Amino acid sequence: MATLKERLSQLHSRISSTAQSCDRDPSDIMLLAVSKTRPVEDIREAVAAGQRAFGENYLQDALPKIHALQDLALEWHFIGRIQSNKTRDIAENFSWVHALDKFKHARRLNDQRPPDLPPLNACIQLNLTGEQSKGGIDAQELPGLLEKLLQLPHLRIRGLMTMPPANAGETLQHQVFGDLRKLLQKMNAQGHNLDTLSMGMSGDMQAAICEGATMVRIGTAIFGPRNST
Ligand SMILES: *Cc1c(COP(=O)(O)O)cnc(C)c1O
Repeated sequence: MATLKERLSQLHSRISSTAQSCDRDPSDIMLLAVSKTRPVEDIREAVAAGQRAFGENYLQDALPKIHALQDLALEWHFIGRIQSNKTRDIAENFSWVHALDKFKHARRLNDQRPPDLPPLNACIQLNLTGEQSKGGIDAQELPGLLEKLLQLPHLRIRGLMTMPPANAGETLQHQVFGDLRKLLQKMNAQGHNLDTLSMGMSGDMQAAICEGATMVRIGTAIFGPRNST
């Protein structure tokens, strides 16, 4: 079986070749390593292989790892669902959130962001397929939410995030990711300044890259299959 270092290097090659196959510059795509449920030793191994940005979904799992790895200047992204009673820990320990979908949470994160840290980077999660089980706002709610978020100086709204249904085929993956790109372009045409499309996981990375992803969130392809999530 390949080592973590080898898997990471294969993944970088795949990102590059996919980007080139659809006329994109590979350096425009950042790899976020999703380390949820993985031990600190796996993260250190990934860091030794050059990885610096890590994504976590569960705070109680993430916080001890963040503290244990404080000696390495890592960039932590909270990619899980945000709950009101967890916003302080997110605001104090992460550089990014990817699944913002409520102004109420944004205001709490803004108010709780320590003043000595730079603004918290945030992506707004869109739910473009109406799946009940998933977070995210509808496309028509986006302009109003973006406008309100401009009031919050300790948040920096960077872009949009979405996930297609787990069982989506390639056609639907392309449609969902393409719709997210068009939404971002539309918002920028209306005066916003969004530079991030957080889309693509191990199973749908190819479609996401060809539709314009600037950040792919990859767990399994780096760390191997998870026992539980
Ligand atoms: C777990 C997770 C990922 C990574 O998924 P893989 O299939 O392991 O690559 C990406 N984004 C979110 C929001 C996740 O919860």
